[in-house]
Amino acid sequence: MTAPLSAPVVIIGTGLAGYNLAREFRKLDGDTPLLLISADDGRSYSKPMLSTGFAKDTDADALSMAEPGAMAEQLKAEIRTHTHISGIDPGHRQLWIGEEAVPYRDLVLAWGAEPIRVPVAGDAADSILSINDLEDYARFRAAAAGKRRVLILGVGLIGCEFANDLSLGGYQVELVAPCEQLMPALLHPAAASALQAGLESLGVRFHLGPLLTSLEHADDGLRAQLSDGTLIACDLVLSAIGLRPRIDLAAAAGLAVNRGVMVDRELRSSHANIYALGDCAEVDGLSLLYVMPLMSCARALAKTLAGEPTSVGYGPMPVTVKTPACPLVVSPPPRGLTGEWTVHGSGGDIKALCHDAGGALLGYVLTGTAVQEKFGLNKELPALLA
Ligand code: FAD
Repeated sequence: MTAPLSAPVVIIGTGLAGYNLAREFRKLDGDTPLLLISADDGRSYSKPMLSTGFAKDTDADALSMAEPGAMAEQLKAEIRTHTHISGIDPGHRQLWIGEEAVPYRDLVLAWGAEPIRVPVAGDAADSILSINDLEDYARFRAAAAGKRRVLILGVGLIGCEFANDLSLGGYQVELVAPCEQLMPALLHPAAASALQAGLESLGVRFHLGPLLTSLEHADDGLRAQLSDGTLIACDLVLSAIGLRPRIDLAAAAGLAVNRGVMVDRELRSSHANIYALGDCAEVDGLSLLYVMPLMSCARALAKTLAGEPTSVGYGPMPVTVKTPACPLVVSPPPRGLTGEWTVHGSGGDIKALCHDAGGALLGYVLTGTAVQEKFGLNKELPALLA
């Protein structure tokens, strides 16, 4: 049995990937039934704003741009919120919400990635929070109300952004991570030092090398113990140690998965009529958990779903890190390409450039005043997916 042709296009997820795809699709097709299903409350919001909310004292309601009812009207779609997909049955073109079978014409996985958790001992380990959606943000703000000291796990992009934001919001911030520099996957060490100095100028303290091993309740809050024996008194712990694309339900349905749900450049998975984009997708081998790639994917996939098969291409995609204490833009070399790094500037103003043997620019990291040079450099960067 297959689903009838009148079955809807079903998008799982109402994050930036799901909603942007629905918007792009509706520009091309106003008639095909569209169903969006979300495990969360379905409010439309811009996730990057979650790490700028404390400086501006903005609560979750203020970050919400539209309620699901308004989105449903705008998109001429049905939106089911607080609804978990529990399985996919590609052979019968249907998915499962508990015992309920929902048919689809085409199915799009836009179900994002989930925060990685590490085991921590101690009677307060369960109180560790992470922020990966608007509801998490509301929970964290509620927990942080009236508190002062925040310990952040992880010195990646998200950990550094929250360190800057929480400091500007009046919190005393410490970060711990088992590495030697900030944002090791993205930054040249000279730029990482500039970022660290910028954040330290706000009063942020770093513990680079050890891990958090236990978290206990104490008389005046929490007591964190690190693997080097350091004890840190804090009120709140925010985990920002990375995200893992959601692949389990896809794998259980027999779809090819790797780091993410594997799709080709038409965003097509290993199974006909099932597509993926956004944080959960690995597009032609690239797993990029940023906004620009998912916007390109949304435009291409909308065309494919509207009957015009279209491949996605990625141009250069520099990432602006929201750390005003040290303005920072980074564009890592495309996969598989390596080159020589040269560093210009000093202190907070670093221009680190990566060139190949022929002198072509492969990537850069810019901090401080050097950030202004991004416009010129962007024109020289290679495409990430030509
Ligand atoms: P999500 O927004 O996570 O949406 C996933 C959706 O799937 C949700 O609606 C969820 O409820 C739903 N879902 C999950 N499982 C199920 C299920 N089983 N059943 C039903 N629904 C399900 N990127 C940038 O480019 N620039 C930035 O400045 C930037 N800042 C960031 C700051 C923070 C704090 C964070 C966390 C990320 C930031 N990013 C930034 C990354 C960017 O925001 C993400 O790449 C993007 O928002 C991912 O969107 P998505 O729709 O793929 O996933």
